[in-house]
Amino acid sequence: MGFSTDAIHAGQTPDKATNAVIPPIYMTYTYAQEEFGGNQEYHYGRSQNMTRNILEQNIAVLEDGKYALAFSSGVAAIHSLTGILKSGDHVIVSDNVYGGTYRLFDKSLSQFGITFSWIDFDDLLSVEKAITLQTKILFIETPTNPLLNLIDINRVSELAHKHNLLCVVDNTFMTPFFQKPLNLGADVVIHSSTKYLNGHSDVIGGLVVMNDKVVFDKIKFVQNSIGAIPSPFDCWLVLRSIKTLAVRMKQHNKNALQIAKILSSNKNIKKIIYPGLETHPQHELAKEQMTGFGGIITIELNDFEKTKSFLNKLKIFTLAESLGGVESLVNHSATMTHASLSNEGRLKIGITDSLIRISVGIEDVEDLIQDLNQALK
Ligand SMILES: *Cc1c(COP(=O)(O)O)cnc(C)c1O
Repeated sequence: MGFSTDAIHAGQTPDKATNAVIPPIYMTYTYAQEEFGGNQEYHYGRSQNMTRNILEQNIAVLEDGKYALAFSSGVAAIHSLTGILKSGDHVIVSDNVYGGTYRLFDKSLSQFGITFSWIDFDDLLSVEKAITLQTKILFIETPTNPLLNLIDINRVSELAHKHNLLCVVDNTFMTPFFQKPLNLGADVVIHSSTKYLNGHSDVIGGLVVMNDKVVFDKIKFVQNSIGAIPSPFDCWLVLRSIKTLAVRMKQHNKNALQIAKILSSNKNIKKIIYPGLETHPQHELAKEQMTGFGGIITIELNDFEKTKSFLNKLKIFTLAESLGGVESLVNHSATMTHASLSNEGRLKIGITDSLIRISVGIEDVEDLIQDLNQALK
């Protein structure tokens, strides 16, 4: 089936009880047991919920995976994935990941004897050098946030498999509409469904997708034992949103490409980063592993004063955390999403005080361009 057909239908046959076309929100945490000692599928809401299971089946199909699990947030999904590790295990992480992922690994999980190496995945030799007998996972995010560097998923997967490791890809920025890491060799895909998948800035959620039954069983066990599950209502909202994922992503991409091209010639901008521009150093890789370039543009202005004034003058673009919603947002990485990194750590990967991440929404592009232009003056 085509992507939109799957997005609208996968996992969603009419409800058995009533033939309802839209999956009901199963707001129940307990289920009547048909007989004493029986072995029925549904018995307690943390372990099983029909609305959640439908969402899991839906995202599994969209990512071309066999299994998926839903969580209460993107970081809960990442945390639950790492629940398959034990004290002493080692993970190699791309050095520019979502700030919350950094905080989870560096501040929380490191207290439990799991160690992390932060490596630039442009240099696969240094990644290979960092592999030890304790290494279990290569964890990457591509494109990276907010610098939009790309990592070659195919090559990282090959390296992972050569050393018997899992290749995990955070696919939040692209969604399966533009990038399918499992088809490029990855073992596990992570999503913050808070972003494009839900797309309406009203749900926090996370998803994990994979093909391997052993990995699935382990993470399913963690889902139940840690219990970071999403509510049935949140699952229903994400399912509803995914039905329009294709049309939203096409529009995000179209608007962002047009804005990126126009901003490229604006002399008040020191630097513009967008994978869809030919000036992006990895534009060729972008065309190879993605079928679109997404809705995130990162710009650098000339100094901090101009950055502040630009952010204050915008009218349609809202200054806010997060990205991937239908409305356009701007984010000052150094003080907002990446505040959990040290000054030094930020500068090392290129997050200056004048860097702004733009999440291009699906409003009329003429209005967005006009707003950016007036604020840049
Ligand atoms: C937001 C985000 C996360 C974390 O997701 P939450 O739903 O906020 O917990 C993880 N990875 C990426 C790339 C993100 O943008």
